[in-house]
Amino acid sequence: MHYAQATILVVDDAPENLRVLTAVLKDQYRVKVATNGERALALAAGDDPPDLILLDVVMPGMDGYEVCRRLKSDPKTTAIPVLFVSSRDEEEDEARGLDAGGIDYIVKPVRPSIVQARVKNHIELKRSRDLLERLTTVDHLTGISNRRRYDEYLDLECRRAARDGEPLSLIAIDIDHFKAYNDHYGHPEGDACLIAVARTLAATVTRPTDVVARCGGEEFACILPGTDAGGAAQLAEQMRQAVAALELPHQGSPAHGCVTISLGVATRVLVSGQLPQLLADAADRALYQAKAAGRNCFVASAV
Ligand code: GH3
Ligand code: MG
Ligand code: MG
Repeated sequence: MHYAQATILVVDDAPENLRVLTAVLKDQYRVKVATNGERALALAAGDDPPDLILLDVVMPGMDGYEVCRRLKSDPKTTAIPVLFVSSRDEEEDEARGLDAGGIDYIVKPVRPSIVQARVKNHIELKRSRDLLERLTTVDHLTGISNRRRYDEYLDLECRRAARDGEPLSLIAIDIDHFKAYNDHYGHPEGDACLIAVARTLAATVTRPTDVVARCGGEEFACILPGTDAGGAAQLAEQMRQAVAALELPHQGSPAHGCVTISLGVATRVLVSGQLPQLLADAADRALYQAKAAGRNCFVASAV
């Protein structure tokens, strides 16, 4: 299997150490460097995060243990493996590094072949974990979140919303007369339509906390944390318009002649202990009303 080149972030306050480690790794990997903990944290949480971090322990300012603890406590960076590279070779130093969340510990001065071998092992493990994560959370047809991810995220956001006293909105979305679409155009065209609709829905949301998922067949849902009824209604209408604007011909759609969606919107300020099902049921009921009202529209559930 062909992989894109992995990226390794090397963190060390000594330029000489950075030079040595970069020389050891640069033929196989993209190497980025940082000379202090703050810079390392910023790069790790940035848009192009590394697959592995080689982290010095003794640095002025924030030391390597602290950098590692912060990486592990941030959901954005917690999955990046940290390999300590240190001149301290006592048992307690190594134990401290592993305790702080490091996956491995290499003693300086480094031996190039050992660094290469350990880095290769950890990169392979990271690849398997990333693949597993993708397979269990991404819908294979459309590439957006799957049902499992939807369930997990809705559960998480319901609890967060109850804790913070914030509104949480959910939009249930269903393609209109999709059975007729499949019957008329065939299953492969039906799949292509699902992909186009999924992309369009996903492109409509803008906040990083918004999640659009395929919940099954031709049913989708959109979870909107911190969004009130007005905001959710606006987004539902944008989604409806964006799908209609694709103008995918649909001979079997009696009223509209092209592919359309119906949407049900529910917004609640949940209290602790209320289940996600409450919100999901409300959105489903609203969706049912949108179907009954003639489709290609949204209905917002009354609180
Ligand atoms: P409504 O407007 O009331 O939603 O009618 P509908 O025909 O869209 O609803 P229904 O639930 O009766 O039919 C859903 C159809 O979706 C059934 C099946 O043909 C199609 N479908 C479900 N999953 C897939 C899929 O993965 N690929 C394709 N191509 N079609 C699917
Ligand atoms: Mg349908
Ligand atoms: Mg359906």
